[in-house]
Order: sequence, then structure tokens, then C-alpha cells
Amino acid sequence: MGWVSTDNEHEGWAACVAPDGRLSASSSGEGMLFRGISGRYKRDKMMPDYEVVPDAEIVGWRGQCVCGWQGEMWERVISRADADFNHRRDYVSPEDSAHASLKVEDAIHDEWKAHIGPSEALLGVEAAAREYNQAGHRLDKTVAAAKAAGASWADIGRAVGISRQSAHERWADKQ
Ligand SMILES: [Zn+2]
Repeated sequence: MGWVSTDNEHEGWAACVAPDGRLSASSSGEGMLFRGISGRYKRDKMMPDYEVVPDAEIVGWRGQCVCGWQGEMWERVISRADADFNHRRDYVSPEDSAHASLKVEDAIHDEWKAHIGPSEALLGVEAAAREYNQAGHRLDKTVAAAKAAGASWADIGRAVGISRQSAHERWADKQ
């Protein structure tokens, strides 16, 4: 239903916020669905563990991720004149579905992308480390083959781009 990270560890979306602070799980024709029974709202017909909060009572929006992360609050204001994007305030008519506006949803998406930024960047490090280790193993094997074929430590050092002494220290024990 939302945005998924490359490693599938994170799935985020723009959730609606109920007056009691709960974040919506889904929506229906009657309003937004919230997990848990407070007794103040009617239960959803399909899912008995969920309550339906009328769209008009939604107080704002915030990002949510399956990992537990939550974004900062975007407050819903009661008149169009009070909307102020830079102060995280937006207007959605009480007559309409209480979903975040496209602009707020985009902003929440950006917040979520910043949240997953470190783990996305680490995927690059993991891939590079894998290649680095594979290249190291290949280097060891080819050096051993060159030595077995009669190359000197000076020849091998020159091929690798290091000194004869360094080549000897690095691989002599592995022969
Ligand atoms: Zn996450």
C-alpha cells in the first residue's frame, strides 16, 4: 500500500492521525480505519479489531513505516486560510476523504526516503565489500598460479603494483 525499500525491510505510507494519536491502517467508505477498540467510535464491519473514525475528525497526517519509524506531524487546520506548508499545516475539507493532500503526501514520502537513506546507502557498501572480497580471493589464486609457473616475487610485485618485499610478505606463507 505504500513505498518499499530496496531490501524490503521498510514499507512506509502517509497515515491519518486520529484525535487520540493513533495512526490509520487503512480507509473505508465511512472513514479511516484504526486498529484497537477505544469504544468512542464504531467498529468496522469487516475487521472487528478496527474502529472507523469519521473523515471529519482526522487531525493530521504523519509518515509511518513497518519498522516502527514515524515522521513528524502534519497538522490539519479547519480553514483554508490557516494552511501553511512551511509550518506543516494543511487544509482538507471535512466534506472530503481525510487522506493527505498530494503535496503533503509527497513531503511525507521525502521524509520516509530520508529515514531509509542510511540503509539504502549501506546496500552499496555491502555490494562493494562483496566484490572486494571476491577480488581478493581471485588475486590470491592467480598469485599462487604465477608462483607455481615460475614467476619471481619481483615479477609478482610488479604485476600487482607493490614491491618485491611486500609481495613476499603477503603471499609467501600461503605457498
Ligand atoms: Zn523503516
